[in-house]
Amino acid sequence: MWDVEGRRYYDFLSAYSAVNQGHCHPRIVAALSEQASQLTLTSRAFHNNVLGQYEQYATELFGYDKLLPMNTGVEGGETANKLARKWGYLRKKIPKNKAKIVFCENNFWGRTLSAVSSSTDPSAYEHFGPFMPGYEIIPYNDLEALEELCRDPHVAAFMVEPIQGEAGVMVPDEGYLRGVRDICTRHNVLFIADEVQTGLARTGRRLACDHEDVRPDILILGKALSGGVLPVSACLADDDVMLCLKPGEHGSTFGGNPLACRVALAALRVMEEERLAERAERLGQLLREQLRQLPEHLVPVVRGKGLLNAIVINDKLDAWDVCVQLAQNGLLAKPTHGDIVRFAPPLVITDDQILECADIIRKTITSM
Ligand code: PLP
Repeated sequence: MWDVEGRRYYDFLSAYSAVNQGHCHPRIVAALSEQASQLTLTSRAFHNNVLGQYEQYATELFGYDKLLPMNTGVEGGETANKLARKWGYLRKKIPKNKAKIVFCENNFWGRTLSAVSSSTDPSAYEHFGPFMPGYEIIPYNDLEALEELCRDPHVAAFMVEPIQGEAGVMVPDEGYLRGVRDICTRHNVLFIADEVQTGLARTGRRLACDHEDVRPDILILGKALSGGVLPVSACLADDDVMLCLKPGEHGSTFGGNPLACRVALAALRVMEEERLAERAERLGQLLREQLRQLPEHLVPVVRGKGLLNAIVINDKLDAWDVCVQLAQNGLLAKPTHGDIVRFAPPLVITDDQILECADIIRKTITSM
């Protein structure tokens, strides 16, 4: 990226993982402008010629019966919540208005009233009540707590990020996602994976759930689904879940518009054809290797998967000051908490650029 004075920066925030394919990827921008000059939006009352192509490609790629198109990530989460409640009443026979959805502490899935109702961060929920009922909170990475709650027959779903992004790139223990899958299956609870940030090659696999070979019942995608070109999100699920919603019960003026569908098709094809997951896996290892050479008293923790990484810095340094200094040295990053800095560049970054960036990070931190 370049600022208005022409200074060059490496973007290590990537619009919160929306530009996995790189800023303004030529194939995605070409799809956008080609489609924009032909047809951008039809009423959802009518079919358009791109939605079906996109749904077919995406459902085959991710292995689900159906895709429900929305716009922002948080709408994808809202849609998953509605789907889970409806499934809970129709299939699990939960008594009317008793359905519960379980979330983890420090989750982040957006800013709507539902999303902040499930938040444990006061800056997200304070003074925005009253809140959505039927939400339960358990610690992240705690299978026992999940099992305990899932014994409640009113629990319809567990919604979780495979790696908590906004919480500071919290990577759960190996086996956590398999454990979640197993508990949800045994208790007839839907497993909703919020892969809005972790999905689409970011963590070194097409989906972060692929690291443990688990398949959620509802998959939420967003951000890089458009390569950062416009808001595109989606919920994927099999018919048993998705067809609980009947025509007219959920929708959006812009969801599934031909412009978004054409862009999403291009963004997914770029991810596949440029093998971005493999690239993220390899370059992520290289980046973490470099970061682990930083003096341990300054950077005691380096964690992440693929190109979703974070460092925890010594509490004598302020993460904000580190980021300001990094920007001055040509690298854009943002603290997620007082002592955590996330490093998540676009996945098209090269080996040499990763090494150059590791050097910028090393020089910045050691000079402080
Ligand atoms: N889910 C996760 C895991 C996120 O990180 C975010 C945004 O950062 C969202 C959902 C919400 O996406 P959006 O800001 O597009 O509504």
